[in-house]
Amino acid sequence: MPHVADKSQDIDQKLSCPICKCSYFSKSQALLSTSWATLSGWDWANPNADIYQCSQCSFLLWFCPVTEEEAEEEVDLGGPKLTCTLCGETRFWTRQTLLSTRSATFLHIDWLNPGADNYICTNCAQLLWFAQTENGEEGETFECAGHLLACPICQHKNFWTRKVLLSDKTGTFFGVDWASPTADIFVCTNCTHILWFA
Ligand SMILES: [Zn+2]
Ligand SMILES: [Zn+2]
Ligand SMILES: [Zn+2]
Repeated sequence: MPHVADKSQDIDQKLSCPICKCSYFSKSQALLSTSWATLSGWDWANPNADIYQCSQCSFLLWFCPVTEEEAEEEVDLGGPKLTCTLCGETRFWTRQTLLSTRSATFLHIDWLNPGADNYICTNCAQLLWFAQTENGEEGETFECAGHLLACPICQHKNFWTRKVLLSDKTGTFFGVDWASPTADIFVCTNCTHILWFA
């Protein structure tokens, strides 16, 4: 799904795509309204999340500002300490995204049940997604913008993938009018890190 970035605005030159190293992004606001947050059980969510889409490979970077009062912690994924793929920070705000059945259905991501873990970098506010469940698939390798897709967290190269159907209503709800009706989600079979592509 080609997406033409508007290079005249909303480009953050400091960012570099963890997948393809491209530094051009289109920025969108994900308007996490109160009602949406309630619906999804994301009562922790700030009203605003920012989504940056890589102009080259369509990788989605999520950012979610969090208040300073949140407890910081280091994240143990059973391997090396979790490190932010953008800035190298090792302290994160941790949230469980409790996807209720209703909201999971709404978002058509029932495969995510019972939920996903979100780790938000305390330095740059990048929001990293992890699936809580492993589905036992060995996964496959994928190419992305000429690169063999590798997990930015653990460098593993096998993923299982799902299409997430973002309905029109959801798209409007999110304020992501750039989004195609579907997003592709790649889940690392090693560390369960979720990569989003639009
Ligand atoms: Zn990219
Ligand atoms: Zn960071
Ligand atoms: Zn991984």
